[in-house]
Amino acid sequence: MNKKISFFLDDFELGKDSVLGIYIHIPFCEKRCNYCHFFSRILKPNHIEKFFEALVSEIEYYEKTDRNLFEKSFVDSIYFGGGTPSMVKPFVLKNLIEILGSKFNFKNPEITLEAHPKSFLENYKDKNDVFFNRLSLGIVSFEEKELLNLNRENFGYPALILAKELGIENVNVDLLIGIPGQNLASFKKSLDIICQFDNVRGVSIYPLEADFVESDEKVLELMDYSEEYLDKMGYIRYEIANYAKDGFFCRHNLKYWEYMNFLSFGPSSSSKIGNHRFKRSSNLNSYLEKKFFLEEDIRLSEEDLFFEKIMMGLRLMKGIKISELETQFDKGLVEDFLIKIKKFEELVKIENDMVFLTKKGIIFMNDFLVEIMPDRKVL
Ligand code: SF4
Repeated sequence: MNKKISFFLDDFELGKDSVLGIYIHIPFCEKRCNYCHFFSRILKPNHIEKFFEALVSEIEYYEKTDRNLFEKSFVDSIYFGGGTPSMVKPFVLKNLIEILGSKFNFKNPEITLEAHPKSFLENYKDKNDVFFNRLSLGIVSFEEKELLNLNRENFGYPALILAKELGIENVNVDLLIGIPGQNLASFKKSLDIICQFDNVRGVSIYPLEADFVESDEKVLELMDYSEEYLDKMGYIRYEIANYAKDGFFCRHNLKYWEYMNFLSFGPSSSSKIGNHRFKRSSNLNSYLEKKFFLEEDIRLSEEDLFFEKIMMGLRLMKGIKISELETQFDKGLVEDFLIKIKKFEELVKIENDMVFLTKKGIIFMNDFLVEIMPDRKVL
């Protein structure tokens, strides 16, 4: 792709059904962090080459099964996630984008590279390596001791300096709360460092999910603190765990929360196209042998779609547009939902055609979903 990458994406409007996000799962890590739930394996020699051969075959295989999707949709976001996509040399990922560009209609896509600070420092040396327009740095914390508790090393600060030197103007930083040994002072230090960099346009704050986390009270304290701190620094909380400067909300992740179409490639990756949800098998060896089994292949009913739309949409601070629900779904389903939520006015509110969670509702979101839709599995 020879076109110069723009960090500032033009606004454009397309029908929600005609835009498509592409996710590429790179299932390799240098070592495993002790809390991680994502599918990845320790990288072995020759894996990368074999993996990318298989990945291209998977794309071609899918193209044959749904040519229509390739022709009729516009790709406006591509996300390299993992695993550790920054372990792959930039030219390999650049080639893959060219291949995707030859098969799909690109519409000025947001291209995100998820990066581990260490491999980002190792593999990205030059401005010509920057083939993406959004960098998501998994920094986690800037405190050595906290990182050691998670089997991670401390490369966050030099990675931010490198991103600045390379002219990357849209950086998102991931931090964790609830790490053993973490306190308000150490967390504030992480936020202070991030906010020194004017190219950090987004911050994600995730509660650590493991059996060795700090207490719920500590997690809630840090969650509240991050909202207060980041609000003062001009970051908008647009999703439960995500903050960004105006104009820098992650276009790809919004597709999950707004329940739009996304097509994913790579082992263990999930896709949703209309009412079809499918998940590629997590068996890496089969994948490398170009056997593309599905682990899940479901046609969602209208009730399934409605529940998932509610579950994902309530993660957004603005909530869900009621009139949109009414045009997309059976009237009875929407009415039933609106009646049920009346009992939970401390947790959920309706204002100006939007239904959204209150502060308390954010904390008790899962319990609330189970209460209103007891037969469903909350993801
Ligand atoms: S580097 Fe990321 S994907 Fe790999 S084990 Fe650690 S948290 Fe999981």
